[in-house]
Amino acid sequence: MIPHEKKTETTDFPPARPSGDAPRSDSPFGRLTINLGAVTANHDLFRKTVGSTCDVAAVVKADAYGLGMVPVAQALHRHGTKRFFVATPGEAFALRAALPDAAIAVLGDGLPEAGRDFIESNIDPVLNSLHDIDLWSDLAAQTGKHLPAIIHVDTGMNRLGLSAKEADTLIRNPGRLESLDVKIVMSHFACADEKDHPLTPVQYERFKAFAEHFPQAQKSLANSSGMFRSPDYHFDMVRPGIASYGGNPTPETTNPMKPVVTLEARILQIRQIEAGDTIGYSATHRFDQPAVTATVGLGYADGFHRAHSGKAHVYWRGVACPLVGRVSMDLVTVDISHLKDNMPRPGDWFEVLGPHQDADQLAASAGTICYEVLTNLGKRYKRTYLSDM
Ligand SMILES: *Cc1c(COP(=O)(O)O)cnc(C)c1O
Repeated sequence: MIPHEKKTETTDFPPARPSGDAPRSDSPFGRLTINLGAVTANHDLFRKTVGSTCDVAAVVKADAYGLGMVPVAQALHRHGTKRFFVATPGEAFALRAALPDAAIAVLGDGLPEAGRDFIESNIDPVLNSLHDIDLWSDLAAQTGKHLPAIIHVDTGMNRLGLSAKEADTLIRNPGRLESLDVKIVMSHFACADEKDHPLTPVQYERFKAFAEHFPQAQKSLANSSGMFRSPDYHFDMVRPGIASYGGNPTPETTNPMKPVVTLEARILQIRQIEAGDTIGYSATHRFDQPAVTATVGLGYADGFHRAHSGKAHVYWRGVACPLVGRVSMDLVTVDISHLKDNMPRPGDWFEVLGPHQDADQLAASAGTICYEVLTNLGKRYKRTYLSDM
């Protein structure tokens, strides 16, 4: 909570400034706290789950799911993580600058454009097709190097990775990999978040059959959810993303992960509403009774989805307060009439994500998933990292 140093007559916050004043850079509307110690504790649970013969890599694509790739990856690296996965070449080069000696792989490959830079920066493209394998082999020939390779086989996602036909061609022509050193073969689950989904064991069997042809390579199949579904899915390396950041890998049960993210949004005004008044754009909410509302500095420009309109809640000292009316670009309106003697004041902070509401729960009120809630966390929030040490 923000201490009220001075009592002001108005209920506006921050208090009106004489014109010409510089804006107060320390007056953010939202503050986001990321607990790096919880991220590393979550990785401890993964290690316990998969045992000492299986590596735990870290998926830090999309700015570590919106939490900040560099601080998150640095904390995990200090904690012993050796292999990182990102989505794009740009993410890989940024990570390389922060971690000179971590192993970095690019899921979306980026070949051929980024090929020579990958070699120079010791970054591994994930080879997602026979064409990628040939491009990477050609680069090996041109540079006179034996290049490390990660081969991704598609087992049912039909997105990236060698198709069944390509996989078959490769197995019949192992010479195609002559100038490469296959370090990892991998695949990716489509439905591991759904308990007992029939596609999951099918993908497992397909992956196992392909991977058997690469006895020297590390094998990797499981994302966060896959890791918690069966020890069969662990192989030599797991690739958790969302569960590191507190997302529930097994949505049908209580979340085994430690919460990582706290998001608070500031109250700018408290308003007395008369019976019959409407709220916000398109006047979608009308009050039949007199009410009290709080106008809060949080909007869709902060990645707080417009689909939350009229559905989501924020929390004041543990009490749920419903959003009323539309989410606008920078503001939402919250009904606080029921708080009575426990009213917040302008300058106070609502909990948006925290002990009473995690990203999975908030996501549900916009019909989305916690992945989308986290990767949309806005750039305007004041970010604080709680140390992992
Ligand atoms: C994103 C991604 C992961 C991590 O998935 P989570 O569900 O976040 O654990 C692992 N592997 C691949 C190929 C991915 O694209």
